[in-house]
Amino acid sequence: MNSFRADLHCHTTCSDGSMTPTQLVELAVELGLSGLSITDHDSIGAYATAMPVAAAHGLELLSGVEFSAAHEGSAVHVLAYGFSLTNPLIHDFCRQHVLRRKERNRAIMDLLTKQGFPISEKELYLLDSSLEEDKSWGRPHIAQAMVKKGFVKSSDEAFKKYIGDGKSAFVAGKTFSVAETLQLIHEANGYAVLAHPMLIERQSVARDLMNLPFDGIEAYYARYPIDKQLYWKRIAEEKGWIVTGGSDFHGNLKPNISLGCSWVDEVTFKKLKQKKI
Ligand code: AMP
Ligand code: ZN
Ligand code: FE
Ligand code: FE
Repeated sequence: MNSFRADLHCHTTCSDGSMTPTQLVELAVELGLSGLSITDHDSIGAYATAMPVAAAHGLELLSGVEFSAAHEGSAVHVLAYGFSLTNPLIHDFCRQHVLRRKERNRAIMDLLTKQGFPISEKELYLLDSSLEEDKSWGRPHIAQAMVKKGFVKSSDEAFKKYIGDGKSAFVAGKTFSVAETLQLIHEANGYAVLAHPMLIERQSVARDLMNLPFDGIEAYYARYPIDKQLYWKRIAEEKGWIVTGGSDFHGNLKPNISLGCSWVDEVTFKKLKQKKI
């Protein structure tokens, strides 16, 4: 029996994961995974460190990133795989996201300050002493800063009361459309995969997305009920798209999700590693 398993969705300290790229690769090896794609939010910063560690342990890496996009006001995450890690389009797009996030974080913190919860940029960026390069800072870090300052008891409370979508200190900021994100990924010779389709709340959004030129759907996701996963697997197969899977591991930021709890086999992993024709 082929025991190859690859987790195609996980986060490090380069976005909102709690493990460094080195720790994550070592955990994947420890768990017996054969392949891994690190998909930080809007950042490929983990790869510079992860690549030599993975090579030393014989773990195969697939290039990946999880881009934030929006459709009709709803957040949509798009996974990109198989692009060259030196592709200038990908680097430039990640840079644009860093700028977008900086502006947006500032606007969210301004609103929080007005509401009696002052957090400065300095306090936010000093939160993590690891100072990863090309790190994507976002709402999970603002939530952690709120906990640290005693404004809320947990990150969940910060999202539920203040910074979650539509709450009093929520700011959407600049967004990129799903269509332009797909175009960029394709220009960079990557595969574009719809992340966690079961999290899409509006039917109309799901319908529209199914008419966009995705290459795959992340049907195997985290610990979702198998009937939901099979529903999306069937849709992907009807469309002739690749069925992908991953845990969306964030370390102790999502403690009930373990690395490798969703995965793909060797055939899918190798296909995504192949150059697109
Ligand atoms: P951002 O990319 O800055 O908009 O932050 C969105 C990220 O926040 C998501 O990808 C989740 O990882 C995280 N998130 C969303 N809702 C919650 C919540 N209720 N509690 C904790 N984290 C959340
Ligand atoms: Zn995340
Ligand atoms: Fe996501
Ligand atoms: Fe994710």
